Amino acid sequence: MAMGRKRVLVTGGAGFLGSHLCEQLLEAGQDVLCVDNYFTGRRENIAHLLANPRFEVMRHDITFPLHVEVDEIYNLACPASPVHYQYDPVQTTKVSVIGAINMLGLAKRTGARILQASTSEIYGDPEVHPQTEEYCGNVNPLGPRACYDEGKRCAETLFFDYARKHRVRIRVIRIFNTYGPRLHDSDGRVVSNFILQALRGEDITLYGDGSQTRAFCYVDDLIRGMTAMMRADDDVTGPINLGNPHEISMLTLAQHVIALTGSRSRIVNRPLPQNDPTQRCPDITRARQVLDWAPRVPLEEGLRRTIAYFTERLTEQRAEAAA
Ligand code: NAD
Ligand code: UDP
Ligand code: UDP
Repeated sequence: MAMGRKRVLVTGGAGFLGSHLCEQLLEAGQDVLCVDNYFTGRRENIAHLLANPRFEVMRHDITFPLHVEVDEIYNLACPASPVHYQYDPVQTTKVSVIGAINMLGLAKRTGARILQASTSEIYGDPEVHPQTEEYCGNVNPLGPRACYDEGKRCAETLFFDYARKHRVRIRVIRIFNTYGPRLHDSDGRVVSNFILQALRGEDITLYGDGSQTRAFCYVDDLIRGMTAMMRADDDVTGPINLGNPHEISMLTLAQHVIALTGSRSRIVNRPLPQNDPTQRCPDITRARQVLDWAPRVPLEEGLRRTIAYFTERLTEQRAEAAA
């Protein structure tokens, strides 16, 4: 191995964020081992990286032990959208908790730095806006989102206990809604839903009255924050919020998507799902101070790039169907 080149493990590397991370790490000259069980990940997401001799892929479920030699671990393996994580809720809790234990055990044995992809969902349906890292959250432990929220909360507990008890070098980031190319086309998340509906000329399904807000971060910005966190000094454990503080209502998002696609789709109202947070927005003061990080890509630009990706995917799918 060349001096300075690190062996980096990315769990969930064939997923949306993981595939962008693998790409960025390879561009930075690292050796990348992508581990994925393909539950929600896709081979096409990483197909363009396979020719790179510094890239390796392993099919593996991280709820089982993994023995490899690495210098850094990015732990991203976990379905992220409600449709996917509620499909098998027990497996969702397992991947968050047992997966974290295995990856922390691996970090403990190898001395690798380990970063946990935690989530804004650990704040639940927050009563405080915007959310700072000190806020402990408002999670319903019994609701349909609990397998994800509580699993991720327990993973954070494990990270800090491994740091205190075993001196594992941990990093915890709390990711807020992120979007961009390679978002799933069938996982029901709002950005992919609205774009696909607009491109197909279908009705745009707005849940509730659309007054609930989210703040969307473009994927390139998020990955830049994630790698900055890994490079930070060892006293920087986090948790650190990473997201875009520019908050918009779902109605406004729907209107933007219609305008940018030039679609003739209509907006129709559908029932609001149970426990759907009414407002979510990160306070990124800590990320600005500690990592000198802030998002750069404006929503309109990010939406344009994402629309271009989905337009291409739809063209490919139509060509395949016609063949
Ligand atoms: P994704 O579903 O596209 O990626 C998750 C990946 O993990 C997939 O490739 C999947 O196949 C893999 N995986 C699932 N279970 C596994 C297991 N047991 N063993 C090995 N691999 C497994 O989701 P994403 O949006 O890329 O999210 C990545 C991480 O970031 C997740 O941990 C998620 O909780 C976190 N996150 C994402 C967002 C977001 O807006 N995208 C927000 C907050 C947190
Ligand atoms: N583990 C792993 N890879 C390793 C080292 C450990 O998957 O390289 C797993 C191990 O199987 C265990 C978990 O990580 O289930 C936690 O390891 P730790 O050493 O903390 O706990 P112990 O083995 O003492 O239970
Ligand atoms: N949403 C919507 N229409 C859709 C999909 C989602 O109005 O077709 C809403 C959803 O109710 C929520 C917001 O958009 O208020 C974001 O939903 P998503 O599932 O993308 O993310 P999360 O709820 O996890 O933030």
